[in-house]
Amino acid sequence: MASEVESVRNFEFTLVIDKLLKDSQVREFADMVARSSRVVLTCHVRPDGDAIGSTLGLMYVLRSLGKEAKVVTPDQPPRSLAFLPGYDDIVPASRYEDYSARLVEKADLLIACDFNVLKRQDAMARLWEKTSAKKVMIDHHEGPEHFTDLMISYPDMSSTCELVFRLLAAMGLYEEMPFEAATCICTGIITDTRNLTVNTRHLDLYYIMVALLKKGVPKRLILKETLEIKSADAMRLNAFALCERLKIYREHRAAIVYLTKDDLARFKYEKGDTEGLVNQALELRGIIYVAFMREDPGSVKVSMRSLGSFPVNRVCADLFDGGGHKQAAGGEFHGPIEQAIERLVAHMPDYDARMQQAADELKQEGYILNL
Ligand code: 5GP
Ligand code: MN
Repeated sequence: MASEVESVRNFEFTLVIDKLLKDSQVREFADMVARSSRVVLTCHVRPDGDAIGSTLGLMYVLRSLGKEAKVVTPDQPPRSLAFLPGYDDIVPASRYEDYSARLVEKADLLIACDFNVLKRQDAMARLWEKTSAKKVMIDHHEGPEHFTDLMISYPDMSSTCELVFRLLAAMGLYEEMPFEAATCICTGIITDTRNLTVNTRHLDLYYIMVALLKKGVPKRLILKETLEIKSADAMRLNAFALCERLKIYREHRAAIVYLTKDDLARFKYEKGDTEGLVNQALELRGIIYVAFMREDPGSVKVSMRSLGSFPVNRVCADLFDGGGHKQAAGGEFHGPIEQAIERLVAHMPDYDARMQQAADELKQEGYILNL
């Protein structure tokens, strides 16, 4: 197996990561960076730890290379990421329309992180037509659309941040990677893998974690701020949801947890408050897939998770105009939340065969799926 740097001497630090990226892509990206001076980094709407971690992480590296780099997001990033260095420097396009448009227009390089369909930029997608910047996609979702000059797309990566790390390491930039960049990159890996419990396809991801921790990254702080800490209202809202708004469909090994706009108002819902709720539903013994539905203004946000080979990205694409990964996907429904629930329930039988297949495979692996 080819490695960036071979051997681990006394566990003194030596970076051992498998060389998974195509050399030609790494070279092309390095070339684009070398030729640019004003870079805009952007991500999907309702950004998560991976979207913000990858854009801010790259921003710090690009700045250390002397570039003017700015992160422009379609909307406001969640407060749970406010601990990240660079958070206050982010420009949400929904709030600073003119400024964000000017930044994109003047950029000579536009880097799209953690999304692969332009639609996920929401209103910000308009700005793509107004710039002559070279465009790069750095992403880990299946089925990318062609909307950039260079597409660095690796769906087998746990996170865009893992991909960003590998890219920077392959460019020889690990040694000078600033502490701030390492912190942001580590955040995306931790949030997308739920602290290395899901999606850890490549075992050398653990070496990457070692490499990041060697930079002094505050892992405990990252975990606390992104996956653990909640306001009292949020904690009560989640408890209420599991207590009063959880429906279990045993024959389909499925569950739905939902919150209406009145529920959200009652517990003074703020963005990010229901992060993790869908994963809690997946802790139910015997359940293979779950959906969380939230009645947001204008649409119902659907978020799904699964175990094993059950493809929730398929379900979200079929029923909710969405997509994502096999075990973590999302979409939207335009209509009352009751109809969104009915839609999924009505289609559960369509997915019984795939559910059964996933359940059989899990049993083979030793999982106890008794209901
Ligand atoms: P979450 O459930 O945490 O919002 O999202 C889980 C995964 O599904 C993420 O990888 C995200 O990119 C994807 N995803 C979430 N919402 C949507 C959506 O509306 N459309 C598409 N295509 N993907 C989504
Ligand atoms: Mn991601």
